[in-house]
Amino acid sequence: MEEGNTIAKRAGSRLCCLCNERKPALKRPKTLEQICRDCFYNVFEEEIHQVIVGNHLFKAGERVAIGASGGKDSTVLAYVMSELNRRHNYGLDLFLLSVDEGITGYRDDSLETVKRNEVQYGLPLKIVSYKDLYGWTMDEIVKVIGLKNNCTFCGVFRRQALDRGAAYLKVDKLVTGHNADDIAETVLLNILRGDVARLSRCTSITTGEDGPIPRCKPFKYTYENFNQNHTYAYFKKLDYFSTECIYSPNAYRGFAREFIKDLERMRPRAIVDIIKSGENFRISTSTKMPEQGTCERCGYISSQKWCKACVLLEGLNRGLPKLGIGRSRFLENSNDNRKEAKRNDGDRSIESKQCGSLDF
Ligand code: SF4
Ligand code: ZN
Repeated sequence: MEEGNTIAKRAGSRLCCLCNERKPALKRPKTLEQICRDCFYNVFEEEIHQVIVGNHLFKAGERVAIGASGGKDSTVLAYVMSELNRRHNYGLDLFLLSVDEGITGYRDDSLETVKRNEVQYGLPLKIVSYKDLYGWTMDEIVKVIGLKNNCTFCGVFRRQALDRGAAYLKVDKLVTGHNADDIAETVLLNILRGDVARLSRCTSITTGEDGPIPRCKPFKYTYENFNQNHTYAYFKKLDYFSTECIYSPNAYRGFAREFIKDLERMRPRAIVDIIKSGENFRISTSTKMPEQGTCERCGYISSQKWCKACVLLEGLNRGLPKLGIGRSRFLENSNDNRKEAKRNDGDRSIESKQCGSLDF
């Protein structure tokens, strides 16, 4: 890492603040300590371990799927989870779970990375594909609907695909590689969208406890300028994929991300403070939260007769792809909190982790 090297050179003969033996390789913005690679690995892994233990994320004997996109954060997560599981005897059965959206030139390449990780980390991999589950790839969907609402389809389909993959693996939990920056970005987006229901839960380290599979984010507190995950992946030479989705149009989220990064550059703790603000929002009791039921067609959780995926799929199959989109647009334009809360039930739209969303 360039920054680390410069610091090490500048430090000259000084030694790592923690072990006092080796040359420092980087300076941690959080503590301003100059530390060596080995101490960085220890500190980083130990922090994640403390988050896991302190928040009681897992119980011995549980089966846990790691949402693996082939990207940097989920690759670091897979590596660190398998290390900690061994070192601290968590007693977990770990699996990699990937979604194949059917995006040529993007997901096919990143899945190759995940397949290598399967071998490198010795974790069994399950891939669920949109084509198998829904009969459509994202490439085919984009041909029909264009590049405007593609992420709505993709997000809704991904949520169910992950749950179905998790059910296939019979896991008790699903973990994702979302870090503090991702969560701060989502807090901000939910405020900008007035999305009360999501705002209330997007900061939780575990979500979906009322749904089919709880999801946890062990990297919830991982922040620091230029992201520790990046440094860790770089030093450990982890094999990951770093290209953006070819259909990613998300200018709005991109703006929020840049804004967060600017704030972080000026004051790294801004990230934690945004998350804290999100955590401390209270939903007024007059905001009606949705009642959870199941979709009459596919049995997935839904507060409506049909879940969002079935509505979108019906539109696609009938040659009326705007069917499901029109409704949510109407609701998005509504100022009525109750309608807004309704939209945010189990069938809400979720983009992928690459696109920055909190749900994968
Ligand atoms: Fe799907 Fe993300 Fe690509 Fe949108 S940007 S099409 S949500 S993978
Ligand atoms: Zn050291």
